[in-house]
Amino acid sequence: MKIGILALQGAFIEHKHSLDALGVESFEIRQKKDIEKPFDGLIIPGGESTVIGKLLHKLDLYEPIKNMIGMPVFGTCAGLIILAKNIEDEQAHIGTMDITVRRNAYGKQIDSFSEEVVIPEVSDKPFPLVFIRAPWIDSVGDNVKILCKLNGHIVAARENNMLVTSFHPELTKNLDFHKYFINMIKQKKSR
Ligand code: GLN
Repeated sequence: MKIGILALQGAFIEHKHSLDALGVESFEIRQKKDIEKPFDGLIIPGGESTVIGKLLHKLDLYEPIKNMIGMPVFGTCAGLIILAKNIEDEQAHIGTMDITVRRNAYGKQIDSFSEEVVIPEVSDKPFPLVFIRAPWIDSVGDNVKILCKLNGHIVAARENNMLVTSFHPELTKNLDFHKYFINMIKQKKSR
């Protein structure tokens, strides 16, 4: 199994560390030639969605990456925004996932915080949620499964092979979310 991590901007190296800790091979996607060879899953990291969105176009990665979705993809924070079909007051980027998101939803006062919550689909032990200028999901389409809500706001969801979180599992030592994503890839491969 081999996972590509979009490495244009933001917290991509932390995802690599999580995958390394699980013994899963990964590589950085910085330009078109990086995605010529086959791979099994894609991670779109946190960072600044506007910057990542612009770079996707500038580097001619927008179309190839968009066409690749169907392959399991995990978007964290800005990565969630990149995958969303609807972004309040803004144009969508890749726009493959039927969710409506609000950027920087938590506002400046509490732009970073953490919380522990049990997410039954992922693990029966509490998972540390780390939020940094995070979006939340305002609404989801019929095919989207809500994995976690915090104070009434959706902060993790899955639609088919697309997994998104408002928070940053890669900034914690807990590997359960990455394990869950790896299982999505295994299931897809075994079908
Ligand atoms: N605020 C960023 C955005 O709107 C997301 C922050 C993050 O990825 N930690 O793109």
